[in-house]
Amino acid sequence: MPDHTMDVLIDHATISRRISDMARAIEADLESEVPILVGILKGSIHFLSDLGRHLRIDAEMDFMQAKSYVGTESTGNVRILKDLDVDIAGRHVILVEDIIDTGVTISHLVAHLSIRSPKSLRVASLLSKPDARKVQIEADYLGFSIPNEFVVGYGLDFDERYRNLPYIAIYRRSSD
Ligand code: 5GP
Ligand code: MG
Repeated sequence: MPDHTMDVLIDHATISRRISDMARAIEADLESEVPILVGILKGSIHFLSDLGRHLRIDAEMDFMQAKSYVGTESTGNVRILKDLDVDIAGRHVILVEDIIDTGVTISHLVAHLSIRSPKSLRVASLLSKPDARKVQIEADYLGFSIPNEFVVGYGLDFDERYRNLPYIAIYRRSSD
């Protein structure tokens, strides 16, 4: 008996169509200025690269990495492991995240960057688990709302595995 099951939740074609729609929405909001897409490592890799390819405008890319420690308190602490290389003052910035779960990580990153005077600061997230929210924050551009289940694939890992999968799957441990 395998110790876990993986069931496809969102297939690759559906993800691609949705990211294309998100790119159209972003273009419409940008007043023909060049945005900086900030990928949150590592989970956003496929989403950032697909979103970038779907955009019909020029865009820059940069990366941040954060680690959240959610303990028994309602909000955890977030540590920045890698900060931006570029100056975002006066620029349109779009944080590109894999998933908003409790909301702790993305709200911390928004607060961290907003004091650097970007012209605008928006959040694009491929996935959201609204039922898991502890900090009230929503993406400006959202791919899919999903149930409160652990998912892997399309950048999302379980112990660093499965990030390469071209689809999103629900990962469940088999009950023994
Ligand atoms: P939050 O701070 O919103 O609770 O969680 C943000 C981070 O937790 C995400 O960027 C992601 O790395 C991780 N995370 C939350 N839910 C899931 C999930 O269902 N699967 C995986 N693989 N990671 C998740
Ligand atoms: Mg992440």
